[in-house]
Amino acid sequence: MYLVSACLVGINCRYDGQNTRVIGVEELVRSGEAIAICPELLGGLAVPRDSCEIVEDGDGNARVVSKEGKDLTTFFEDGAQKTLEIAKTIGITVAILKSKSPSCGYGKVYDGTFTRTTRDGNGFTAGLLAANGVVVYTEEEFDSLFE
Ligand code: SF4
Repeated sequence: MYLVSACLVGINCRYDGQNTRVIGVEELVRSGEAIAICPELLGGLAVPRDSCEIVEDGDGNARVVSKEGKDLTTFFEDGAQKTLEIAKTIGITVAILKSKSPSCGYGKVYDGTFTRTTRDGNGFTAGLLAANGVVVYTEEEFDSLFE
């Protein structure tokens, strides 16, 4: 069983009420091979919501702030924790998550400047899953994953 980002399977859970459907990922859910989760909704945020990015201070502490400057870190922490609990409960070992997101991004995330610029790093959920032994891929690696 895979855990996948809900926006990748056509669920309109993105901050702007849209999705980022990837047909192959959606087929995994339809065939019963994957469960779809949106950590930001699990964390208590709504649709639509403010666009958010991770901001790091000089000491390496990460916060999630909205474009309007609101600190929403606790919502992202809660969503990550709840996603990990679900993953542990059903024995998830592999996740396919949405690239660059402050929750789901893995390897690269937006850099906190709201200029579509990326930096190395992980979203809150992707990082927590990886730290607990889940192998994380993004949808950008999906084709090579199932070749
Ligand atoms: Fe998609 Fe993850 Fe953002 Fe939810 S939190 S909209 S699943 S990228």
